Amino acid sequence: MTSARRKTPLHTRILIGLLLGAVSGLLAQALLPDGSKNAGLKRLNEDVMQHVGAAFLAMIFMIVVPLLFSALVLGVAEIGEVAKVGRIGVRALILTVVLSGIAVGIGLAGVNLVRPGEVIPSEKRQQLWNGINVEEASKKGAAEKSADVDPAVLGIVPKNPLLEASRALSGGLLPFMFFALVFGLALAGVPEERALPVRSFLEGVFAVCQRVVEMAMWFAPFGVFALVFRTASVLGLSALAAVGAYAALVIVCLAVHMFGTYSLVLKLIGKRNPLEFFRQVRSVIVTAFATSSSNATLPEALRCAQEDVGLPRDTSTFVLTVGATANQNGTALFEGITILFLAQFYGITLDFGQQVTVMGLAIVAGIGTAGVPGGSWPMIAGVIRRFAIPAESIGVVLGVDRILDMCRTTLNVVGDMTIAVCVDALEGGRTELPEVAEG
Ligand code: ASP
Repeated sequence: MTSARRKTPLHTRILIGLLLGAVSGLLAQALLPDGSKNAGLKRLNEDVMQHVGAAFLAMIFMIVVPLLFSALVLGVAEIGEVAKVGRIGVRALILTVVLSGIAVGIGLAGVNLVRPGEVIPSEKRQQLWNGINVEEASKKGAAEKSADVDPAVLGIVPKNPLLEASRALSGGLLPFMFFALVFGLALAGVPEERALPVRSFLEGVFAVCQRVVEMAMWFAPFGVFALVFRTASVLGLSALAAVGAYAALVIVCLAVHMFGTYSLVLKLIGKRNPLEFFRQVRSVIVTAFATSSSNATLPEALRCAQEDVGLPRDTSTFVLTVGATANQNGTALFEGITILFLAQFYGITLDFGQQVTVMGLAIVAGIGTAGVPGGSWPMIAGVIRRFAIPAESIGVVLGVDRILDMCRTTLNVVGDMTIAVCVDALEGGRTELPEVAEG
């Protein structure tokens, strides 16, 4: 019995937590006298559900700083080396940044157009804030930032990275990430024998952090139950409608980027027939979709690139290996939409400048996110606090994450294959595959 329970995959248990939380929350709202304003329900939410949910999230938050630091430094150091490798590296790097930018742009345009988080009626939303005024909360966030004794230059370049690390969850994330980027670039420029101990130490830190996230995820089914119960019992069906619209939007935007942007790039730069390409990489698509992990898909991607797509070994090994961690268009697009959706859900307006910041953060996130299932979440957890979005908002979407993870990982890996094809074509196209279009 116990072993049967243990065998139920985590994402299934989280989904069960989500469904139970949603159904019991909706029932509580529908059946109790006074509905969501029922005194007993309010007490249950404030004294139990909120704390259970917060305890689960705190387990993730506590590891955000070391996780992001190690992941980003290692990711950037890798890219730094890529640049050293010369033309291939620089081309891959430019394509990565441009394609990530387009991906996030599509996501942000979609979320601004559809506005899935605004389905919630505003008086209900106010209840979610436990009586705190939304504007007050946003102002408080801003005040926390401006109260710094020694703020980062332009809000980006930190004078004291340790100070930013200690307030990473309340506005210091961007300057701290900047520090990690600089540190990673510097690491790539240090002689190999000096860099090695630092790199292996950070690899160890990264592995330990991932383990902590895994441990936190054991509690995810309970945390998600509590968070979703509270949301559903306060907001009713409108919460489910919002999350449904959000999930559909993510999938549509991922599809637009995969079949729209990649097709164009494949045709114009890669000189390939996109349909033929998608047919050739179908084993990679299936593996990425099934495992939700770019890293786990890497062996199949390498095989497919050489045997099915006909790419030369050196270019494909190089681009795909680095791309598995450093090129994640699906993740970047997903993170952009999620942050804006959660802001809308809680009634926080992000102006154009803030959205540009989200865009920049999401592009960097695509580089720093680990190619493992749920790799996006520590980054999202850090970023939402910067915009005064409540931490518990994560529970609203975590329940539907698995399916979105399957889809975004597919885009991540197909993106790596696309870049490999383009880099090969720019190198003179050493493949013997058909279809040459005018660039
Ligand atoms: N699962 C994704 C990958 O492995 C990362 C993420 O966005 O969570 O590519």
